[in-house]
Amino acid sequence: MAYLALYRKYRSQTFDEILGQEHISSTLTNAIREDKVAHAYLFTGPRGTGKTSTARILAKALNCEKGPTPEPCGVCNSCVAIANGSSLDVIELDAASHSGVEDTREILQGVALAPAGGRKKVYVIDEVHMLTTPSFNALLKTLEEPPEHVIFILATTEAHKVLHTIQSRTQRFDFRPIPSEVIAKHLADVAAKESLEVDPDALDIVARYAEGGMRDALSTLDQLSSFGRRVTAGDVEHLLGGRKEDAFAELFEALARGDLGNIFWSVHSTVAQGADVRQVARGALGHARSLLLLRTAPGAEQLIESSPADRATMAAQAEHFTPSQLLRIVDLLAKALTDMRDAPNHRLLLEVALIRSASPDTDPAPTGLLGRIERLERRIGIEGPPPQAEATPAPVTRAPRPAPVAAPTPAPPPQNERPSNVPAEVGFGHIKDAWPQTLREVSKASKRVHALLNPSRPLTYDDGALVAEVQSDFHAEEMAGDRNRTMLIDALHASLGIKPQISFVAVGSKQAPPVPEDEDSSVVDISDTTPAEADHDPIELLKKGLGAEVVESHGDKR
Ligand SMILES: [Zn+2]
Repeated sequence: MAYLALYRKYRSQTFDEILGQEHISSTLTNAIREDKVAHAYLFTGPRGTGKTSTARILAKALNCEKGPTPEPCGVCNSCVAIANGSSLDVIELDAASHSGVEDTREILQGVALAPAGGRKKVYVIDEVHMLTTPSFNALLKTLEEPPEHVIFILATTEAHKVLHTIQSRTQRFDFRPIPSEVIAKHLADVAAKESLEVDPDALDIVARYAEGGMRDALSTLDQLSSFGRRVTAGDVEHLLGGRKEDAFAELFEALARGDLGNIFWSVHSTVAQGADVRQVARGALGHARSLLLLRTAPGAEQLIESSPADRATMAAQAEHFTPSQLLRIVDLLAKALTDMRDAPNHRLLLEVALIRSASPDTDPAPTGLLGRIERLERRIGIEGPPPQAEATPAPVTRAPRPAPVAAPTPAPPPQNERPSNVPAEVGFGHIKDAWPQTLREVSKASKRVHALLNPSRPLTYDDGALVAEVQSDFHAEEMAGDRNRTMLIDALHASLGIKPQISFVAVGSKQAPPVPEDEDSSVVDISDTTPAEADHDPIELLKKGLGAEVVESHGDKR
């Protein structure tokens, strides 16, 4: 028997099986029960959220030999024919491939004919926004006076492209992205039925990567099924070309630093991996929203759909922004997404929004001015959030891509300048000096582990045992896990040739030995270096930051 793709094999067959769209299933179920089914529906929503499955189930419900019933039997001739796509009464059209007016007209000519065997003739037009205007008009004419025995189900991922005149003649249902935990649970069910061994972590990643679309999630599971062994989170990350969470964490690190070069690189590498620019923009908008939520509503973390580790990473990152900065980023990205509906150059729109996000100087809007004022306030010390690096924007043409660790402080020697046979007698000072480089090594292996270590510093090194300080008990616990700890040990081996035992303590923990003031420079984070004396002078700052001029000075006795 030919191999059947998982998403076909496990396509929902009843309203109960449609996941994440209960608001739609219950409305349709009631309509069938009360004999109030409309003549035309518009199903909108992202791909893979159940639009065509729901259309087929509705068709089955209306034509089931034991119906009409919200619970079609699934075994009568009509149900079987609709399920396998051979029913003469269910006409499915993909407007993406039949956009010519002749095709549509030809198909619509059949509307007047009575159903072949069932009660209703159901026309399902997928991606209806792709119809040409003449085709739309042909459809519109039919919708104006539909015969009693006909039902239209129009599906689209882009509702705003469907003519208003069509929308107004249909009952609209908005399909939502399916929550990732719902997808993960379904994947686990399917994996069990298929006897696939997949780690729960791996399924979580697949589910989040699918961004609410079940079809994509099941397609990924299909690919993983060919591994022929137990599938791990690492396998999934490898297959999907790096985690999106990491890509966005990296992008926002660059935004926090105002590092324009890395912003361009971030966009470039995500797009080069085949991501759709609008998806990237939506993802960045989602990330900004999560940071805003973490920054402004402590205790509301549960509203963020991600793993506890990713939430901790984001919480640390959120501290590098002020709430109004994040609001501005949300505004700019949302506007870019709206503009993308009408403008062809999506990538340029995204890049412009990100550049404006990163450097208020380039944003002519009042919020840009506010951003500049905030930046000045932070430097004078009026407001309290952690300082944000004011690194000079990097040249855009730089290659290869630098590691995302923000180190405006003097860079350590590149790895290849260090002899490969490093002396075994390495002291605490060496470890401290090589810490930024070690973190860059970690970053190459995993952005997440790198984020767990940002900021961090070595505290003591004694008899081959290293104690490292990280920002919270959570981070210490995460880093103590075998996989993460080994990654740091490997990085130390790469940077210094040592493989010490490592333990972790949280900042301020009683276990942490006191560190002399002058050793603070070993902390690697994305803070600014101490501003020079002149940078504290409000007048100088206003001149530099806002281009202000002194027009009158009261201290002047001239
Ligand atoms: Zn039936």
